[in-house]
Amino acid sequence: MKIAVFGTQFYEEEYFNKYNSGNQHELVFFKESLNSKTTHLAKGFQAVCVFVTDTLDKNCIEKLAKLGVKLIDLRSAGYNNVDVKSAKTNNIKVLRLPTYSPQAIAEHAIALILTLNRKTHKAYNQVRENNFSLQNLMGFNLHGKTIGVVGTGKIGRAFCCIMLGFGCKIIAFDLKENEDLKRKGIQYKTFDELLSKSDIISVHCPLTKETNHLFDTKAFDKLKKGAMIINTSRGAIINAEEAIIALKKEQIRYLGLDVYEKESTIFFKDCSQTVIQDDVFERLLSFNNVLITPHQAFYTDEAISEIAEISIKNFTDFENNLALENEVK
Ligand code: NAD
Repeated sequence: MKIAVFGTQFYEEEYFNKYNSGNQHELVFFKESLNSKTTHLAKGFQAVCVFVTDTLDKNCIEKLAKLGVKLIDLRSAGYNNVDVKSAKTNNIKVLRLPTYSPQAIAEHAIALILTLNRKTHKAYNQVRENNFSLQNLMGFNLHGKTIGVVGTGKIGRAFCCIMLGFGCKIIAFDLKENEDLKRKGIQYKTFDELLSKSDIISVHCPLTKETNHLFDTKAFDKLKKGAMIINTSRGAIINAEEAIIALKKEQIRYLGLDVYEKESTIFFKDCSQTVIQDDVFERLLSFNNVLITPHQAFYTDEAISEIAEISIKNFTDFENNLALENEVK
């Protein structure tokens, strides 16, 4: 099958070629993101393979359908950037990667917690300047702290299991309760209870209409004062402008973000020689208790291997009319 791979990152071609054994599929890699303005690039392809930086709205999908595209394959677990309803109306299948190394994302969430708490990023720079003072480096024990987990799916579950190892008490909020986690001692609470009881909150639910700006001033005002919030899920779950107000009031004491609502204009590229026009993002960067990473939680060798391997399997299943176990319905 001929597949147009959009938004190709520098590391991806090598991994895709490794798993596309015998060149069973013809893969053409585009650096450009797919959106309604770049749809013409998909001419002559039966399938498009897209990333979180691509925007497949109704307009884009209708254009893809006219070009004869029959498959949209996401190289991500989240699919909030694809209008699945329009795809269905236009008879285009949507496949994704429901599971690829949930540990990669869970472990990155923990890296953010440990860095914000124990300030290793500051110590690293300070020691290189021959400053061995402990001033401003005090952290807190994770042992015994209450961790609130929003979304106990694959990544949330992996995160809970690691935090149990730290000796934390874990409370969770999800639309569906996980019996296995309950057996491990995790208690499900309402969202408001989770906000008021947690020392650290980690977000692992998908971005949906319900979770868009789930964390806004109303939620921040209910936090246990001085809580830490970690978001490795999708940027728009946190209202960044309102988070700035909560940071200034010290309602949020630490904020760790791997995702940001308007990341598509800046993330996944080197903007070091340009002026960032997003004032909200720049204000967030100016806080010494905010740590931002560039949507890298998934970026491990194991996860990228799985992304390539499962994507190739998705193409093959579709081409051979096999059951589509990774279909978004
Ligand atoms: P999953 O589908 O296994 O789990 C999501 C969980 O969230 C489910 O248990 C679901 O019931 C719950 N949920 C849904 N709506 C909710 C709501 N309104 N309130 C509370 N809980 C709700 O997904 P996953 O594999 O664990 O991935 C979670 C998210 O992580 C993805 O949607 C994606 O946005 C994000 N992600 C980020 C990266 C990264 O690199 N930063 C990588 C992969 C995934």
